[in-house]
Amino acid sequence: MDLTPLVDWFDFGTKPLVIAGPCSAESEEQVLATAKELEKNNQVSVFRAGAWKPRTRPYAFEGHGEPALKWLALVKKETRFLVTTEVANAEHTELALKNGIDILWIGARTTVSPFAVQEIADVLKGVDIPVLIKNPINADLALWLGALERLHGAGIKKLGAIHRGFSTAEKSKWRNNPMWSIPIELKRRLPNLPIICDPSHITGNRNLVGEVCQKSMDIGMDGLMVETHLTPDQAWSDASQQVTPDMLKNIISSLHLRTQDGGTADFEVRLSGLRRQIDAIDKEILESLKMRMEIVKEIGIEKKNNNITPLQLSRMDSLMKERVQLGKSYGLKEKYIEELYNLIHTESVKVQTQIMNDFENDV
Ligand code: PEP
Ligand code: MN
Repeated sequence: MDLTPLVDWFDFGTKPLVIAGPCSAESEEQVLATAKELEKNNQVSVFRAGAWKPRTRPYAFEGHGEPALKWLALVKKETRFLVTTEVANAEHTELALKNGIDILWIGARTTVSPFAVQEIADVLKGVDIPVLIKNPINADLALWLGALERLHGAGIKKLGAIHRGFSTAEKSKWRNNPMWSIPIELKRRLPNLPIICDPSHITGNRNLVGEVCQKSMDIGMDGLMVETHLTPDQAWSDASQQVTPDMLKNIISSLHLRTQDGGTADFEVRLSGLRRQIDAIDKEILESLKMRMEIVKEIGIEKKNNNITPLQLSRMDSLMKERVQLGKSYGLKEKYIEELYNLIHTESVKVQTQIMNDFENDV
């Protein structure tokens, strides 16, 4: 995908890009007062507020719609901020363009719907506006990529992703489980795509927002979108996760920012030495896996000759227990060893099944 780098979208000034503002635009006064307070924080360059709110139940506040866009236009006029809002269909998109919104975002509930995303993409054909796409509610990378492709197909080059976590059935401390491996895989597939973290919807809890901001910076994300409210407990939506402008200032100023490149020469020398060690260890791991596989094949032939199934549950069970124990004694996490041996063992069973089938085909 040919994409415009984030630094060329606007003169955002500071890094990381910080987008802040209330979950919902509640009134003209609230929007303007919040923007003026946030303007004192030089780290914030984009003001957010939802004009249309996708609510779970129909009786909740669903946003003021177009009047809220006019309040955002006022923020643009009266402060140094760029403004952004969520669009969920063609009509929202047309209205946002008409009212001069600088950046659009597509919400998690919209990303799951290819028809809705396409409808938005069609309105944006030939328009030069940045679009940020939140991950879909469910942990489906393909759906996220699909939405990005639809916007890119419409000619949008200023494209970014927002990681806001995934809804899962399991109870956890998160409102939406971050599942960091998914945005990391997205970055691996589309290295030029800016990714912004939304710690508010991940945590659902203002006290956890700081730690998620730090984690996202540690894995090299490009920005943050933090829901910020003057009186969070009185917010009309997402009250428990919104921070005050003061809290936001503290969170941002206590971030420990690390860079991916550009350390001192001394550091580069140590890093390349350590990496050479890793390269050598990886070679040994792969050689061991090759030797293991050769033995697996020999066992497969023995099993075939003795009419035994490739998968022997009792063996799998004892192997897993022993390996996890051994791993633990080396200080490795149980879940890590379990996942690793699941992969190794599944592949062994596959190879042995292949050996059985070859035998049957021969007969
Ligand atoms: C929001 O940003 O207020 C919002 C509705 O987010 P999401 O689409 O991530 O739920
Ligand atoms: Mn919200």
